[in-house]
Amino acid sequence: MEPQISVVAPVYNEEALVREFYERVTTVMTCLGEPWELILVDDGSRDQTPEELDRIQAGDPDHVIVVHFARNFGHQLAITAGMDYARGNAVVTIDSDLQDPPEVIPDLVRRWHEGYEVVYGIRSEREGETWFKLATADLFYRVIQKLTTVTIPMEAGDFRLLDRKALDYLKAMREHDRFVRAMTSWVGFRQTGVPYRRHARKAGTTKYTLSKMIRLAIDAITGFSVLPLKLALWSGAGAMVLGLLLAVILLIIRLGGDAPLAGQGLTASLVLFLGGVQLLTVGILGEYIGRIYTEVRRRPLYTVREVKGPEGYQPVP
Ligand code: UDP
Ligand code: MG
Repeated sequence: MEPQISVVAPVYNEEALVREFYERVTTVMTCLGEPWELILVDDGSRDQTPEELDRIQAGDPDHVIVVHFARNFGHQLAITAGMDYARGNAVVTIDSDLQDPPEVIPDLVRRWHEGYEVVYGIRSEREGETWFKLATADLFYRVIQKLTTVTIPMEAGDFRLLDRKALDYLKAMREHDRFVRAMTSWVGFRQTGVPYRRHARKAGTTKYTLSKMIRLAIDAITGFSVLPLKLALWSGAGAMVLGLLLAVILLIIRLGGDAPLAGQGLTASLVLFLGGVQLLTVGILGEYIGRIYTEVRRRPLYTVREVKGPEGYQPVP
C-alpha cells in the first residue's frame, strides 16, 4: 500500500540515538493507523550510523527507506533529499536527535486533516540550549523579518508537516544555498503552527557550529532579499552628503581666517571609513555573485551512494 504519511529525518553522526528515534516513530505511527514510511537520510556520517541505519532498514523493510549520501551535504540538503524520495500525501520533517518529540506528529497530522497544507511545530520551550544559541537565534529571526518579504514564524524550526500540493512546489525550487524554512513560507497555502516543547539533545553534540549558523543566516538573507544590495546606494549617497557638508564647513572656517581644522587624523579616519564602506559593499555584491555562480553551474544538489527501501521500491529522483 502506498504510504499516506512520510516521515523524513536527516541523520548525521547520531549512532547513539537513531535506534531509539526509529522505535519512537514506529510506536507513534502505528498508533496513528495510517500507512506510513520513514525516510532516513544519512548525511555522510562518519561513525557507526550508516551500519545502524542499514540494520534498522533490514529489520523493517516495509516502512523504512535509507538514503546514503556520498558525503556530508548538510542538514538543509538532507531534508531536501528526504522530501524528494517521499511518497506520502503528507510529509513530516523531523530531527533525528529526538529534540523534536515524534509524539507531536499526531498533532501535526490532526491539523492537516482539518485542511491546513503547512503545519509547523513552534518551540514553546527550548530545553538545554545555551543563552548564546537562544540570543543569536532570536536576533536572526528579527533580522530576517526586517529584511525579507517572507514571514518566517518566530520559533518555528524544521519540524513540520507539508501537504503534497505544497511539497511539489517546494520540490520544484532547486536553488542551492537553501533555507528550507523560508522556502516553505514562500510557497504559501494555509499554514498553521502547533506549539511543542523542544527537548535537550539526548546524546551527542550539536552539529550546527557558529560558522554553519552564520552561513545559514547569510543564505537566508541573500536568498530572500536584495535589500543589502541597496545598502551600497544609500551609503554612497550618505557619504556624498557628508563630504559636501564637510567641504562647506572647511570653506567657511577658511574664509573666517581661522586655522583649518583638518589635520592628518581627520584625513586618515575618512579614508579608513570610506575604504571600509567600499569593501563592505563589494563583499555584499560578492555574496550575490557567488550565489549566481553556484546556480549557473547547475550541479545536482546532492549525490547519493545507495538507497535501501522496501521490495519493489523505485527511488524517484
Ligand atoms: N544534521 C545533518 N547534517 C549535518 C548536521 C546535522 O543531517 O551536517 C542533522 C542532525 O543529525 C540532526 C539535525 O540535522 O538530526 C539537526 O542537527 P543538530 O541537532 O546538530 O542541530 P541543532 O538541533 O543543534 O540546531
Ligand atoms: Mg538538534
